Amino acid sequence: MDESSFGGCECSEPPATTSEHDDPPGSSSLLQILSENAATTTRTTETCSIDTESVLSRLRAGSTPVSTLRGSRNGGKTAVAEPPTTQSKSSPALPPVVDSPLYGSSPRPSNPRTTEFRERFFPDVSNAEWDDWRWQSRHRIRTLDQFETMLDLSDEEHDALVEGGTMLPVAVSPYYMSLLDPHDPLQPLRKTVVPTTAEFIRTPGEADDPLGEDGHSPVPGLVHRYPDRVLLLPLDFCSTYCRYCTRSRVVGHGEIVPNAQRLEAIFHYLEETTQVRDVLISGGDALALSDEKLDWILGRLRAIPHIEFVRIGTKMPAVLPQRITTELVTMLRKYHPIWMSIHFLHPEECTPESKAACERLADAGIPLGSQTVLLKGVNDNVDTMKQLVHKLLLMRVRPYYLYQCDPISGSSHFRTPVSKGLEIVQGLRGHTTGYAVPTYVIDAPGGGGKIPLQPDCVVGRDGDDLLLKNFEGKTFRYPDPIQG
Ligand code: SF4
Repeated sequence: MDESSFGGCECSEPPATTSEHDDPPGSSSLLQILSENAATTTRTTETCSIDTESVLSRLRAGSTPVSTLRGSRNGGKTAVAEPPTTQSKSSPALPPVVDSPLYGSSPRPSNPRTTEFRERFFPDVSNAEWDDWRWQSRHRIRTLDQFETMLDLSDEEHDALVEGGTMLPVAVSPYYMSLLDPHDPLQPLRKTVVPTTAEFIRTPGEADDPLGEDGHSPVPGLVHRYPDRVLLLPLDFCSTYCRYCTRSRVVGHGEIVPNAQRLEAIFHYLEETTQVRDVLISGGDALALSDEKLDWILGRLRAIPHIEFVRIGTKMPAVLPQRITTELVTMLRKYHPIWMSIHFLHPEECTPESKAACERLADAGIPLGSQTVLLKGVNDNVDTMKQLVHKLLLMRVRPYYLYQCDPISGSSHFRTPVSKGLEIVQGLRGHTTGYAVPTYVIDAPGGGGKIPLQPDCVVGRDGDDLLLKNFEGKTFRYPDPIQG
């Protein structure tokens, strides 16, 4: 995820247009692999509001596709266009265990939910394949057929998948799909990755680029909003697309590609701009890059003397923990200090696989922080948030930011009142470990940057005493003489 925004950790769809000679030196066949998944995503730039009721009634009547009615970004093509890759549902058992290089001599994490899903939908897939992030990328769930096979779709989900004209493509890694409740469309994880027709609704105050990033981009794929730090977008691909993504105007559209020419223009800008000391590599998901390409980017950044601090934004440990390989962390540790911001949302994401991935990163000396978006019906209560932050600490991830959901187009169904965020922080502060309490922030629309919000703790003054309220709501005095 991105520290410069949220709802966007940074990832992007592998560009279908990327040619091999566009790749930086040392890049592998990953882009080719990813490009297989780019499928048929096409795009236009217009946006529009719609008469939702009219559209839905026509959809259910089997008339004109919604995409042709609303001037969708993808020009009316469905966002879920790949042929099904699902395997037989009938086989009762997994194939014999084949050693999975991901876990080496460590025991392979046991996750009954994932095992049951594999037995049902991928019975012939070996552990080695399932644990291979490239296999997971190639077999992302993207078609209506696949979703219908794996989930009992609600009308709202079905219609959104049929229409496919949402700004953001649809894709879910098989691993993350295994965590979804097949029967409950209101399950928190399912709500975050399966589109519904609520995405078609635009409300006042929403915008495609609410943070004004496009206006702070001196070079394509670089956002320079704060004096000393920049956001570098190497690609716009994500293994799994979050329905509330702040950067949904770009992610998955194949417009930001990791080619050497564009990245060299960014490095040149950074070499010339000596006040920049901090670079966040995000996207899309920065870890959707191959090890070789990420190695090249990090090496180029580390060769710029005034760049001191490099961070990586990702949701991979939550949606595709298989990406965190020994080879990846061995490469990353060459470039210390490297920090990582991980996008976790809900305690059900804290699985044995995810824990193993975070431990591998932490063991490589990479400090881990979580950036969580506050989402209605997903994590908007104290109990859920407390479970999440406790599990994160046990996974060696420090809860860092809690983001108010940005007013991105079509996200009103996810947005809570600000009072809800304050209530959650109030319910955490003093009631659990200080390390477990994230900073609640609003990313100011228009590019104002992050503004922290705190429940009121200073209730007033009585002469030379400050009156303070503690976590139990009791008032205390603190001597704070008014200076003459
Ligand atoms: S879709 Fe999700 S993982 Fe990708 S950039 Fe947006 S928030 Fe991050």
